[in-house]
Amino acid sequence: TEYRRMTPMAYSYDDQNIFAKILRGEIPNDTVLETEHSLAFRDIRPQAPLHILVIPKGAYVTFDHFAQNASDAEIADYVRTVGKVCEMEGVEADGWRLISNAGENAVQEVPHLHVHILGGRALGRMLE
Ligand code: ADP
Repeated sequence: TEYRRMTPMAYSYDDQNIFAKILRGEIPNDTVLETEHSLAFRDIRPQAPLHILVIPKGAYVTFDHFAQNASDAEIADYVRTVGKVCEMEGVEADGWRLISNAGENAVQEVPHLHVHILGGRALGRMLE
């Protein structure tokens, strides 16, 4: 079956969002790892002992926006950065969670793609 969008998607990027300001060095962050295309830093309001955000340096609003438009190099760098952070933080032994909120239904607060890496405690069931 042919995939066809019912409505045109509008991923408009607001370059005044707080993560854009972090990427421009306008506000400080607690960096864990920086690569060519990605930045990992600690969440300012941690929901778990381990709470790190990983963002691409490119102007992408959501995971779907990124997955549909980013270059293979950006995508590989982003996924590898998540992997490196997991290795650095030693999440493998106890387990961890990866979350990305997109848009209104998911209550995305910052309109620049970020995945949350959560760990360091029992996280419970996500879907209840
Ligand atoms: P939600 O707050 O509902 O999880 P998001 O998925 O958009 O919405 O997550 C935004 C995350 O960014 C929050 O966990 C918040 O604590 C974090 N955050 C906001 N401002 C900063 C900042 N300056 N430095 C680090 N983390 C931040």
